[in-house]
Amino acid sequence: MAQKMLKFVQLERETPEKRAARARREDFHEIYAEYADAKAAEQASRCSQCGIPFCQSHCPLHNNIPDWLKLTAEGRLQEAYEISQATNTFPEICGRICPQDRLCEGSCVIEQSGHGTVTIGAIEKYITDTAFEQGWVQPIRPKAERPESIAIIGAGPAGLAAADALRRKGFKVDVYDRHDRAGGLLTYGIPGFKLEKDIVMQRVEQLKDGGVSFRLDCEIGRDHSFAALRETHDAVLIATGVYKAREIGGPGSGLKGVVSALDYLIASNRKGFGDAVPAFDSGELDAAGRDVVVIGGGDTAMDCVRTAVRQGAKSVKCLYRRDRANMPGSQREVQNAEEEGVEFVWLSAPKAFLGEGRVSAVKVGHMRLGAPDATGRQAPEEIPGAETTAPCDLAIKALGFEPEEIVRLWGVEGLEVTRWGTVKADFRTKETSLPGVYAAGDIVRGASLVVWAIRDGREAADAIAAKLDAQAAAKIAAE
Ligand code: FAD
Ligand code: SF4
Ligand code: SF4
Repeated sequence: MAQKMLKFVQLERETPEKRAARARREDFHEIYAEYADAKAAEQASRCSQCGIPFCQSHCPLHNNIPDWLKLTAEGRLQEAYEISQATNTFPEICGRICPQDRLCEGSCVIEQSGHGTVTIGAIEKYITDTAFEQGWVQPIRPKAERPESIAIIGAGPAGLAAADALRRKGFKVDVYDRHDRAGGLLTYGIPGFKLEKDIVMQRVEQLKDGGVSFRLDCEIGRDHSFAALRETHDAVLIATGVYKAREIGGPGSGLKGVVSALDYLIASNRKGFGDAVPAFDSGELDAAGRDVVVIGGGDTAMDCVRTAVRQGAKSVKCLYRRDRANMPGSQREVQNAEEEGVEFVWLSAPKAFLGEGRVSAVKVGHMRLGAPDATGRQAPEEIPGAETTAPCDLAIKALGFEPEEIVRLWGVEGLEVTRWGTVKADFRTKETSLPGVYAAGDIVRGASLVVWAIRDGREAADAIAAKLDAQAAAKIAAE
């Protein structure tokens, strides 16, 4: 049989076709097409089947990447899917939105020999999209029902990954979320041009069909008490994410038209679902016809600038206080934003928002990178007198998120938090200082990534199941 793998020398790296920037600006659809079957097999065949696959060790889920690449190259797609889904609850989502350049692909060894990395993310997406199309994705049908029930607070990727794993083991699972739709930031944070919403909803439907019960529009601490959840369930998982926006002070920051990134993105995503959103419909959170300035250099800022372009902004600028090489957001997303017409003003920060009642301009201070700080990163410092003014009638603050004070908001005693306000949980079991209460995802790690939330959710589910198994065994032994 002809050699199927190690084709990286003959074959160039090719990502799936990207839509032209002009067309992308007009809608919220994803920007990458799907591989054609032959192309996916061809690109998978570039893998050199490393004995020690660094791609796998740098994937937070330790996906068995070389094996599913080989099976894809051989046209054995259903088997590739079986292996891929064994370690990842939502491979089609990770394939779309993981920052692969910093994770699996960033460690692919063939890049170090001057050949482009294997396109791991695009192939992972292709495998699972095909599995859905072909009906290979099995519904959740536990072998036996268990009497114990688990409450999960938060229907983001951490909560949903845990719900999937626990329900497969037969537990009753109730997921509580304060939003009216499940998915967390997959639904209301990340825009459709990175992750179309039917991809998220198909997973939510699969969970519902498998017997997971969703209690939506239900905020713990307001509509339902945490104490009551602990009484009615055998275990509780906190997977509430981080939502307190880091604020920007300074003159004019209270003006109308200076808005928070998540308010802006939630409104846009809701419009995508066809909802009535008064703050968008009034123009307050709509960038159409406006000069938009986004402040920040992370993924949230990238999502805001690209959303503003699609809403028909007159101009879109992004202010970031370090340079391109030192920004936290993915380089791939910066490139996409630049192609779509966003202007990046590196080494800059707002000094004041100007205007009467409503913001009309931003006074921009310019910086340079100084000596490294305690973390080893070069600290930005202001260049005295270097100031410009940018027209702006919508300023979007995208400076990151911190945990809400759930201990105070929920009136819960004994739940230990770190000095950053994240919930303290055991590294392996995810159990908190309260027995039977677990925590996973951003509420433990601080603002992080979807793939880490999935890993945490899966690990928490295993630990909860192990504890409940042990309790059930002890009960039987005592009878
Ligand atoms: P979340 O997804 O935040 O879900 C938490 C859920 O808990 C929410 O649905 C919330 O409504 C609910 N909740 C909170 N408090 C309560 C309460 N008291 N009662 C009931 N429900 C409650 N990561 C990537 O890997 N790739 C990306 O491209 C990417 N882009 C991003 C873009 C944006 C704009 C943002 C903000 C984040 C992005 N991230 C990205 C990060 C990623 O979305 C998060 O790391 C991930 O969603 C965390 O998952 P989680 O389940 O811990 O929390
Ligand atoms: Fe790469 Fe993310 Fe997939 Fe892991 S889950 S293989 S990091 S795209
Ligand atoms: Fe294949 Fe690259 Fe992983 Fe090696 S590091 S197994 S070449 S994908």
